[in-house]
Amino acid sequence: MRPWFTVCGLLALSGCSSLPLRFPWQSTDIRNQSGNTQPFDQKDSKAPSISAKNGGNQGLPVLIELADSGLQPVGKQARASCAKSLALPLEQAALAYPSNFGKRENRDGWGRPLNSSPQLIVLHETVISGPQTVAFFQTNHPEDDQQASYHLLIDRDGSRLRIVPDEKRAFGSGMSAFGDATQRTKPSSVGSINNVALHVSLVSPSDGRDDRDGHSNYTEAQYKSLAGQVLLWQAAFGIPMTRVTTHAAVDRSHSRYDPRSFRWDRFDPHYHAAAAVCGFPQFDNQQAGL
Ligand SMILES: [Zn+2]
Repeated sequence: MRPWFTVCGLLALSGCSSLPLRFPWQSTDIRNQSGNTQPFDQKDSKAPSISAKNGGNQGLPVLIELADSGLQPVGKQARASCAKSLALPLEQAALAYPSNFGKRENRDGWGRPLNSSPQLIVLHETVISGPQTVAFFQTNHPEDDQQASYHLLIDRDGSRLRIVPDEKRAFGSGMSAFGDATQRTKPSSVGSINNVALHVSLVSPSDGRDDRDGHSNYTEAQYKSLAGQVLLWQAAFGIPMTRVTTHAAVDRSHSRYDPRSFRWDRFDPHYHAAAAVCGFPQFDNQQAGL
């Protein structure tokens, strides 16, 4: 690791916000979060109450949500059997400090009902090492721009670390959208897909601990664990393959590029094998649309 990067990394971890380098997993002040009073809230403390999902001509932002995928979730027993067949490493608990995640909101900032069940799977990479990442997430970060998390971390040996429970909202991507679909959980927040996302991050290789365009990639064990994890999440929540995406693809801040060097053609063989072993062909549809 080059000295300048060590300094940059330490500064970033200690909260310096003026750095040109920001880690792909690191949240920013544009994170979609509820709870804090912002100037906009003070001016408009009484959010308009409406019955329609979209604001129409009331001057509210249009609310666009994802359509029903039509895929039925698979029962718990069948998923447990699938996990056993895949010989997936057992989840290890490495839970984040509560300041670094939140609850899935069922109303947006204007009181409109939201579908907050997980509907998207978003892939990331850590840039820093696994232990450094876990240590950061397990530290109390009262400042919004330092709060960040994923649901799961996949280490270089394929082990799975549970950071945030699936039913909670991990802070994996700040300003973000999937197509036009995004949610604003308070009027002062920007759109984010965090409320409907499951975030999983791959620990970067040692030559990827910087801001370069690429690195030597992820291990076969990581691709295998990721494929199994994606399938299990699809089965648990009825998520189609069309909604498995990357942070780079959903980011709307023009500052996130992860997971760098990720190869779908290294993921796919493990995924196809897993779907076949578990008897879940309905999720392996490879369609361009629903
Ligand atoms: Zn990311």
